[in-house]
Amino acid sequence: MAKLPNLTAAEPIPDAAMAEVDRILRTGDLFRYGSDQSPVALLEAEFSQALGSKYALAVSSCSAALFLSLKALDLPRDAKVMIPAFTFAAVPSAVVHADCVPLLCECGDDYRIDLADFENKLADCRAVIISHMRGHTSDMDAIMALCDAADIPVIEDAAHSLGTTWAGRNIGTLGKVGCFSFQSYKLLNAGEGGIMITDDEDLIAKAVIMSGAYEHNWQRHPVLHTAFAKWQNRLPLYNQRLNTMSAALIRPQLDALGSRVKAGRRNHDHVAAALNGSKHISVPRSLPKEQRAPDSIQFNLVDMSDEQVDNFVLKAGALGLKVQIFGRSEDNARVFWNWKFLGNNPDLPKTRAMLDRACDVRLPARLNLQECDAVAQTILEALDLTMRAKTS
Ligand SMILES: *Cc1c(COP(=O)(O)O)cnc(C)c1O
Repeated sequence: MAKLPNLTAAEPIPDAAMAEVDRILRTGDLFRYGSDQSPVALLEAEFSQALGSKYALAVSSCSAALFLSLKALDLPRDAKVMIPAFTFAAVPSAVVHADCVPLLCECGDDYRIDLADFENKLADCRAVIISHMRGHTSDMDAIMALCDAADIPVIEDAAHSLGTTWAGRNIGTLGKVGCFSFQSYKLLNAGEGGIMITDDEDLIAKAVIMSGAYEHNWQRHPVLHTAFAKWQNRLPLYNQRLNTMSAALIRPQLDALGSRVKAGRRNHDHVAAALNGSKHISVPRSLPKEQRAPDSIQFNLVDMSDEQVDNFVLKAGALGLKVQIFGRSEDNARVFWNWKFLGNNPDLPKTRAMLDRACDVRLPARLNLQECDAVAQTILEALDLTMRAKTS
């Protein structure tokens, strides 16, 4: 069997980005409002153009983008915001940070929003955040129809689904606002960073000012000057701006986005086909309108006891492959019962059952097909060893 590749390393930084960082360091101009041609402003223009939205604001993280989106919606204190029960802890945290209350929606064993539970809980909510978790897109036609009918704004948490499309449209452009992450383990790697996109000029104007465009720094944004002027001195400044160097790291990677998306999808589908041959593995299919951009694979273990499931993780680890089962790995930040800061422990049996059987393996776009084979074979071998072992 081919050697297992390094799955944990982040995407390497292109030479063009290093040259640009070097140039910026020599000028010392690391503040986005230090000049009119800041790489941050250029990134905003290029990103909104690439995704097909009118406006973009680059900020310090996707968490900051989610927080500013909620603040810009002007929700009353303690407003309920629906979020999926399967998401990263940053999402309920952003809701709490914005003085709102997260209401958790069940997710099915295909990792997507359970539409019946969504519909039941919607009337109680003032806003909705949809996390396309690990790039798995929920049924956005159904969600947008329900939310539009009830006049409830949708924020898309597309932190980990840049490049995914729904009916030919980019994820992050379907709701009122879309938020993305440039943290190292997402498709574009700046270490840290985030960006929000929207077509709503009032929302972006408020977010720009709150992100820290103090005094007249909003004038350095090449758009929307009447919308900005209206909010002068009327909003708090949370200072969540993006550093110039992070933008310089990302801009050359934007050109590689298309090829990374293609390679990631090829790798995912190759491994999924191999794994689906096992009667103990099920890889949920993508929805018909969804074109995914995966950099990892998720699959469910079927007809296995808790003991067998845990043994499988140990056996894979002994073979050199890190497999995580969300609900059975200690303190996993994507597991709702670990979000004890929420102060309640909601009963969500569907999501719980899924988390207890759903495996997570990184599958970066840079792998070749031989390396993908090594990953698939290792998973199947660990499973075989587990199922042949006598259990007590
Ligand atoms: C990574 C991630 C976030 C948080 O992004 P940051 O830029 O680290 O704040 C939020 N939601 C999802 C689904 C993520 O994967």
